[in-house]
Amino acid sequence: MAKVALQKLGKRYDDGTEVIRNVSLDIEDGEFMVFVGPSGCGKSTMLRMLAGLEDITQGDLMIGERRVNDVAPSKRGISMVFQSYALYPHMTVYENMAFGLKLAGINRDEVDRSVRQAAEILKLTPLLTRRPKALSGGQRQRVAIGRAIVRKPEVFLFDEPLSNLDAALRVQMRIELARLHSQLNATMIYVTHDQVEAMTLGDRIAVFNGGVIEQVGPPLELYNRPANRFVATFLGSPSMNIMPAEFAVDAEGGRKAIVGGVTAVTLGDGDRRIPGASGAIGIRAEHIELGVAGTLDVPGRTRLVEHLGEMAIAYIEIPGHDEPVAVKLKADQGDIQIGQKVGLRFPSQHVFAFDANGTTVY
Ligand code: ADP
Repeated sequence: MAKVALQKLGKRYDDGTEVIRNVSLDIEDGEFMVFVGPSGCGKSTMLRMLAGLEDITQGDLMIGERRVNDVAPSKRGISMVFQSYALYPHMTVYENMAFGLKLAGINRDEVDRSVRQAAEILKLTPLLTRRPKALSGGQRQRVAIGRAIVRKPEVFLFDEPLSNLDAALRVQMRIELARLHSQLNATMIYVTHDQVEAMTLGDRIAVFNGGVIEQVGPPLELYNRPANRFVATFLGSPSMNIMPAEFAVDAEGGRKAIVGGVTAVTLGDGDRRIPGASGAIGIRAEHIELGVAGTLDVPGRTRLVEHLGEMAIAYIEIPGHDEPVAVKLKADQGDIQIGQKVGLRFPSQHVFAFDANGTTVY
């Protein structure tokens, strides 16, 4: 297995479009690194540059101790698993997994050993003689992963491998991938637009946006301490509530965030930077307290309630803000009525403040 170093990598297409801008990142030996971001942010391009399927137009790519910018894909010690499984329909599961090794001139016994070992890991042994059309979507994706495993790569690359599966299968495959990672102890780099996959699979997550990495770190660190508004709203469901705010210092030196003319929260003390005069505050749905109208800081009115079984999400209109604020409620709090007046409190320890550029300042 190997570590992977991205050193000031850039990618500019022939038409001049710059899609990756000066990206540096060290991926540790055996780490599960997730590249996540919205569509078009450059994460697949980045992965394809690592695989050797796209030219690198700036910087150095190191796999292990080797600079591989100009090394052919097949010589980089990587295996890639794609969203579309691209299995050969006329070959059995066994033959699909063995094909690449045979082409590479590996001897029969070794091919057989590798295929059977991978099949065992992926619970495909009973299916080795089946053809792809007799497999479920999840089983086909396991064969595609098997094809990658038999090559014993130093680094696995996954490009949205679960996107074609239905929701239940995705959950199951997520668990299998996590197991596979701990079993193989391999370096894995995984691209997805799905923040749940990112949160559940990654040792660390790199959040991409517009060809740069906004923040990189362990999932909960990014969730609890987002560096900016983009990361704050990208991770978590529902998305963090963001409200435009004015910041003011009161007579006692406290810092207040004013939303729609109402003091929404008095920010705690500490040595954090005081935000500029205006910006935004953010708070997650699970951290907002909901109470009787007139008793809490921010007045609101219920627009909608979604009942999800174990909990409900209430969408509350507040003054001075077009978007309703999402509030997570326990199932037994979920009987509030549409149109009902309520009060909200934003506990200061859970509030983020962002400056006008979107950088987290509190
Ligand atoms: P993601 O995987 O994050 O959805 P991609 O890496 O596929 O994003 O694409 C990043 C950007 O690169 C997109 O804006 C896309 O339009 C652009 N792009 C992809 N291929 C080319 C190309 N051959 N020429 C110019 N621009 C391209």
